[in-house]
Amino acid sequence: MSCSDPESMDWQGDAACRGEDPRLFEVLSGDECAHLGGYVLNHARIQRARRFCRESGCPVRAACLEWGTRNEMVGVWGGEYLSREFHQIRRRGRA
Ligand code: SF4
Repeated sequence: MSCSDPESMDWQGDAACRGEDPRLFEVLSGDECAHLGGYVLNHARIQRARRFCRESGCPVRAACLEWGTRNEMVGVWGGEYLSREFHQIRRRGRA
């Protein structure tokens, strides 16, 4: 996770994923299409990460989702998959 506003990330101290293998939240797989020089979304990984957020009972899901949305992060945040398209549509809605 990158951090553009470290002051607002205090919630991470209570995250259920704290100390988990960061690969749990990798949603791209480059191996299957490396020959194409690109990456593809791995939907099984997205579902696995979303399930972890939900089933772990993470107490900071709302803050995580809000932070990921506000900072236009791509990946699983707060148990939801945030895509580039999601952020583009949201931005257009604010214009
Ligand atoms: S909602 Fe998921 S990604 Fe966010 S802090 Fe909790 S376990 Fe981690």
